[in-house]
Amino acid sequence: MTRIASHRGGTLEYGDSTFAGFAATAAMEVDEVEFDLHPTADGRIIVNHDATLDRTTDSTGVVAAMKAEDVRAAIVNHAGDGFRHPLFVEELCDIFRSSKVGFRCEIKPGFDGKPYAGFVPRVTEALEKAGRLETTVFSSFLLDSLDALREATDRPALWLVSPPVLIQLGPRGVVEVAHLRGIGEIAVNIDMADAKLKNMAADAGLAFGAWAAHTTVQITKAFALDLKVFTTDRPRLAIEIRNALAMETAR
Ligand code: FE
Repeated sequence: MTRIASHRGGTLEYGDSTFAGFAATAAMEVDEVEFDLHPTADGRIIVNHDATLDRTTDSTGVVAAMKAEDVRAAIVNHAGDGFRHPLFVEELCDIFRSSKVGFRCEIKPGFDGKPYAGFVPRVTEALEKAGRLETTVFSSFLLDSLDALREATDRPALWLVSPPVLIQLGPRGVVEVAHLRGIGEIAVNIDMADAKLKNMAADAGLAFGAWAAHTTVQITKAFALDLKVFTTDRPRLAIEIRNALAMETAR
């Protein structure tokens, strides 16, 4: 069955990368939790989608240029319960300590759009230390970060193919680049996913998934296409739809 990945802890249901969202996800019948990481200026690793605090917190600033304590002063969760500040990666690992939900860790670029120098080995080391590396798959839009991941770990890493890249290269070009870079799995925006693209990936030996399936129509499409996995900001809705589909099939 198609795997469900709770995107940033279920942004549309719990806020973007919040303690509340991750804690809820840890207890859900989802397969994976997706999250994004950034370094602080003093060597810590923060769970946050953007390279800055501007959009999702009450604060501003570029995470990689800030001290951890200043990042931690920001409030990310204005409405929900529990811890309200951006999480360290170690705390995320703690939340999932007794959960069977797997990790889907995205390696983000910095504010300048380039990979953080030397960041990937620090991420794999932190996950290893917390005993989570073995249950982590990685993802990135950045080919250079996928190269860095291959050097740092044996864990699988998938290429997030953005709509402009897919349009520019075309499906054939994407498959060729994947081969050149030793990539075994790709994921496209759910609105660009179709059976033709999926079959083309399968013919090339690539696993195929999608990201950003947030509406009932998009989530239903992800299941209908029998994707390997999709990310969603609405994990509870995705579970509901999966359960309804399973009942239908059982009937
Ligand atoms: Fe992400």
